[in-house]
Amino acid sequence: SGGITAACSLDSPPTSQAEAPANVDAGKASGKVGAILPDTTSSTRYTAYDQPLLKKYLSAAGIQPDIQNAGGSTSKQASIAQSMIGEGVKVLILDSIDIPSGVGVEKQATQAGVKTIDYDRVNLGGTAPYYVSFDNEEVGKLQAQTMVDCLDAQNVDKPKIIMMDGGTDVDNNAVLFAKGAHSVLDPLEADGKLEIVSESTVKGWKIENAAPTFTQALQAAGGQVDGVVAANDDIANAVIGSLKSTGLNGHVVVTGQDAGVNGLQNIITGQQSMTIFKNVDYEATAASALAISLINGTDPSSLGLTLSKFDDPEAPSRDLQALLLPAQVITQANVQDVIDAGALPADQVCKGI
Ligand code: BGC
Repeated sequence: SGGITAACSLDSPPTSQAEAPANVDAGKASGKVGAILPDTTSSTRYTAYDQPLLKKYLSAAGIQPDIQNAGGSTSKQASIAQSMIGEGVKVLILDSIDIPSGVGVEKQATQAGVKTIDYDRVNLGGTAPYYVSFDNEEVGKLQAQTMVDCLDAQNVDKPKIIMMDGGTDVDNNAVLFAKGAHSVLDPLEADGKLEIVSESTVKGWKIENAAPTFTQALQAAGGQVDGVVAANDDIANAVIGSLKSTGLNGHVVVTGQDAGVNGLQNIITGQQSMTIFKNVDYEATAASALAISLINGTDPSSLGLTLSKFDDPEAPSRDLQALLLPAQVITQANVQDVIDAGALPADQVCKGI
């Protein structure tokens, strides 16, 4: 793979099928709303994007926000939820650490008469009436298709691929990212056009496990790899760190997700090929608007949100209404789009590189 470059500016990168929401007029509401984010280590998104944006949109609607991060501990998640319920939040927005703990929090909230919203991660078998996220299966498709296009553009013959999934053991999103990626890669593998040499999961999205897991996969592959489907930027960063030790960084196509500063910098420096920009501004706007609907007892369509039924295999009769937002492929050619969208300032993206 010595001849491959990770830097990859495609003329026409794959695009998302989902559409950005039309103007959402969130309206006003009063009272407290709580939001719980899962951790600060599996992705920079929670502190960089979700925390400030949820605060901004809830406050703008007249709501008193209480936004906390569970730091990867399910017991902390439970105690935060308990204290939020105790302080009288009307709605609890939950991005859960894992599904069983998330369902537990929802049960507790429901018993106390507090409505919940599944935020970004769905709690299958839970009780939230609303779910706001991105089209996660499509995220996986976009990652795999961009990787395939980058390798194709460099005429790589029958590339060897390593898949580095995120927490498929805890997070339905991770399952959907992998499913989407497989829907692109498996038919190509069946046609003999590429080879998936291994697939591993970074259990629990625990980022400290990512580098050792990848190093082991690479060794098992005889040190040969052309493309890595890394589920997010933080896993990609660990993969790049591991590739560095053999001088392969910059010579393997590596995917990512979240458009974090580390991901964008690795793209700019030619070590990561792409990231997925999920505009959390939409997600936080939508979650705030749904919280308002729940407080005021209004139909979210009157706020400009078009929801559709999400099938919960763990609770087939559950009426879960979901908004799945579009994602965008970012390569070296369009890093500026993330800055133009207002997600990150240019000086932060360029700092230190
Ligand atoms: C989110 C990703 C994030 C990952 C790890 C997923 O549920 O959708 O954006 O990278 O969790 O925190």
